[in-house]
Amino acid sequence: KKYVIVTGGVLSGIGKGIFSASLARLMKEHGVDVNVLKIDPYLNVDAGTMNPNQHGEVFVTEDGYEADLDLGHYERFLGRDMTRQNNMTAGQVYLRVIEKERQGKYLGNTVQIVPHLTEEIKDRIRALEAELLVVEIGGTVGDIEGEVFLEAVRELQMEEGKENFLFAHVTYVPYLRTTNEFKTKPTQQSVQLLRRIGITPDMVIVRSEFPLDVPSMNKVALFSGVPRDFVINLPDTKNVYEVPEILRDMGLHEKIASKLNVELKKSTFNWS
Ligand code: ADP
Repeated sequence: KKYVIVTGGVLSGIGKGIFSASLARLMKEHGVDVNVLKIDPYLNVDAGTMNPNQHGEVFVTEDGYEADLDLGHYERFLGRDMTRQNNMTAGQVYLRVIEKERQGKYLGNTVQIVPHLTEEIKDRIRALEAELLVVEIGGTVGDIEGEVFLEAVRELQMEEGKENFLFAHVTYVPYLRTTNEFKTKPTQQSVQLLRRIGITPDMVIVRSEFPLDVPSMNKVALFSGVPRDFVINLPDTKNVYEVPEILRDMGLHEKIASKLNVELKKSTFNWS
């Protein structure tokens, strides 16, 4: 099994969900059996108890699970019914570990975030069957709630082999109108934060209001230590359903296939 792990930096709501869903669709159109997992680091067990004014619509899956609206993006982009297995929240993981502790399943050991919570997370990630699993970690790198999930995927990479993993980090580069320039510093700092916890991104996806200039793209590549052709700019589009096609035109499927050694089939989908 191959994994694409999508993390986010700088700020939330930058389009990790749309990028993950689009990437999944693109790979599916090229004959890869893709599945997706959305990780939500909040302590709610599911999105059913969350105020829609705060968090957006609740998406109800085929099997009656009340999920984050991102699962709706996945279902629409991928054309595959989502189930409760496609979403994991910190609340679910903590609840399960504490239940097991009460049942004596840890045989008297001290129950800890590492390894008990991380093992539970890794088991749930492993349980999803696919040739390629796209795992989107919600929130922003540096958030206290997200740390345990990043640690779990770092361990998973060590256990399953580096060659089976691609870490894609989605960031935002703001444009300063007063000085007419793009600012890459927040992106550099979020990549450093990721490295500090032992994850080296293989790909950086730069979201921006307008297309980035070449020097700024080069700067992101240099400071992130990512090859220049693995730095991808995704400016705002009018319609998010265009994103899979934009990624296809950039040859993202080929880059991912070459890094992960996945075989692609010729797409029969009419992209126009
Ligand atoms: P995240 O998963 O990072 O919180 P989402 O993928 O849910 O972010 O996107 C947040 C909002 O930004 C959504 O309303 C989405 O429609 C919009 N969006 C995402 N990507 C783009 C893009 N490339 N162009 C324009 N709008 C986008």
